[in-house]
Amino acid sequence: MRIPKLLPLFCSILGTFALAQSASDEAPKLQHFDPQLADRSLDPCQDFYKYSCQKWFSANPIPADQVVWGTGSGLNIWNLDVSRETMELAAAKKAGRSQIEQQVGDYWSACMDEKGIDAAAVHQLAPELHRIDAIKDKAGIIEEVAHLHATLPSAWAGNDNQTPVAMFGFGSSQDLDDASLVILALDQGGLALPSRDFYLKDDAKSVEIRNKYQAHVRKMFELSGESKEDAAKNAEVVLTLETALAKPQMDNVSRRDPKKLNNKFSLDQLQTLTPNIDWKHYLELVNAPATHHYIVSAPEFFKALNELVAEHPLDHWKTYLRWHLLHGSAPYLSTAFVDENFAFYGHTLSGTEKMQPRWRRCVRAADRDLGEVLGQAYVARAFPPESKQRVVNLVHDVEAALVDDIHSVDWMSPKTKDEAVKKLQGIEDKIGYPNKWRDYSTLKVSKESYLDNVHASTAFEFKRQLDKVGKPVDRGEWTMTPPTINAYYDPQLNTINFPAGILQPPYFEKDFDPSVNYGSIGAVIGHEITHGFDDEGRQFDATGNLRDWWTPEDSKAYDERGKCIANEYTEEIPEAGPGVKQDGRLTQGEDTADNGGTRLALMALDAALRKEGKTLDDKGPDGWTNRQRFFLAYAYSWCDQMRPEALRTQVLTNPHSFPKYRVNNTVANMSEFQQAFGCKKGAPMVHENACRVW
Ligand SMILES: [Zn+2]
Repeated sequence: MRIPKLLPLFCSILGTFALAQSASDEAPKLQHFDPQLADRSLDPCQDFYKYSCQKWFSANPIPADQVVWGTGSGLNIWNLDVSRETMELAAAKKAGRSQIEQQVGDYWSACMDEKGIDAAAVHQLAPELHRIDAIKDKAGIIEEVAHLHATLPSAWAGNDNQTPVAMFGFGSSQDLDDASLVILALDQGGLALPSRDFYLKDDAKSVEIRNKYQAHVRKMFELSGESKEDAAKNAEVVLTLETALAKPQMDNVSRRDPKKLNNKFSLDQLQTLTPNIDWKHYLELVNAPATHHYIVSAPEFFKALNELVAEHPLDHWKTYLRWHLLHGSAPYLSTAFVDENFAFYGHTLSGTEKMQPRWRRCVRAADRDLGEVLGQAYVARAFPPESKQRVVNLVHDVEAALVDDIHSVDWMSPKTKDEAVKKLQGIEDKIGYPNKWRDYSTLKVSKESYLDNVHASTAFEFKRQLDKVGKPVDRGEWTMTPPTINAYYDPQLNTINFPAGILQPPYFEKDFDPSVNYGSIGAVIGHEITHGFDDEGRQFDATGNLRDWWTPEDSKAYDERGKCIANEYTEEIPEAGPGVKQDGRLTQGEDTADNGGTRLALMALDAALRKEGKTLDDKGPDGWTNRQRFFLAYAYSWCDQMRPEALRTQVLTNPHSFPKYRVNNTVANMSEFQQAFGCKKGAPMVHENACRVW
């Protein structure tokens, strides 16, 4: 939900696409793992996901305003509700407000003022539209791009919508070769559909979505005051330009290889690569500090962009910029814009029937714009020190399991094992919330205009990112807010991060049965640690540098194991529509993390039980053994129903596998699972050539 890192090196447990959607109009209700939910009339060795989740699915259909509905959705609503209370209280307070209360309260008041926003209608955007109208020559294009970069949010999953950056991405980043340096980076961008495939594929569904997209762009131009004829013509121009921007883009699979992103340019070299873009001027306009070099993640894209600037008339570019202004502003404008935006992004692309209530959209926007302010209140309410201590212990247990695992594998040499352990010991565990809260004191928020507040927050965040250049890396920084239900590994900081938002039921509770805690949050912890050793993470060393610490033989042995996973997860996903296939090369890192993480969590549970004189095969009062309850809790934490439209979009763009396979493929690779449920050779949950990396 936060503005993500510019380069795609971020390894989370969930796709933001799926995460941002879960909420409904029902009262918040926290789910708890219940072993009685397993459907004993089914065979666990046939389809363990169905066995574990079907009863829950039957009792909990997807609400009309939801894209995804699962066992974690009640928590999501609960988290949103905590922030709502904080904001409402701050808005209602009459006198003696602190600066934080003023910011939070006024942000809320401005966002909830739907009548005022409707009255202002498109007039709010008039000065912005006028800026674009007044562009006189092609030099003005980059000036407007600089302005949009500093004012329009660059990532916005909150309103069933992913806003891209206009033309290309720009921001600070740790250097890939020397993680102690913060430099500037440029990335491909400029599309308003979820990925390049959406512009280039020719199957019937892709063509249908493109036609609907063009109609959506036309309607947005009409809402901005253009005639029907102009709007139709301009929508065509947008599609033509975006398709041309899509063609030279690196695909998602290539972007998982950090070596392919690591292209260093001096300013002169960048200028030579793209003579039609005045970089010096752009950098001055965005107030970028001097940097030693620039990382250009996709040089071919910038070369093509340079040509497109020359080839297309100024009017085309003005149309493109106007579209991106309208698109990026739509969630903060009048009802007509909000509804049209939802009709395409919420309904056509995600399959939702109805929009979320306004208050939830406001809480999500505030989470993005004032996340560490709202987060403080969330932590005070929902994450006591005893919970933190319990999670710290769990993390240590899972890390100890990986040390054992590394020592036990037969395909790594002692030299590489030493390096791997060194890297593991270098991982910093960040639990719940940052040690030092972000300072928002220079951010001006008023109750006059929601749109202005979003612009001010974006400018604040854009400046914050650029201010990092040339300074020591802030290792304490978080890229997720405390109420977020997600977790991540950061390869360049070598940190694992678990926001307080996921350290709640059904994933964790300090007094849960250990089998349940290890099976749900334990597997999440294992997942993030394993990211440090997946096909991408293993290319970084303990200090976060992109450095090969593997012997060639060990590297080869690793790749063979990785390929097994990539092949296993390359499969048709009939639930997402005919012909939709998951690319195992895209999901390989996440799948490796799921497989390794679940095994590590089970090893850690085994060790924890032994300490208390218990075993995995002890039976509880519910009749299940600890081993069985571990796997049931693992599956339960992934019981997620998703609309087919959203699933199709996820399969085509997201590095996370469909939840059903996150459960079934993982357990089918584990003899420990087969042992738990007595599955025999030949059953679907017993993979004949089981894959294993960790
Ligand atoms: Zn992950």
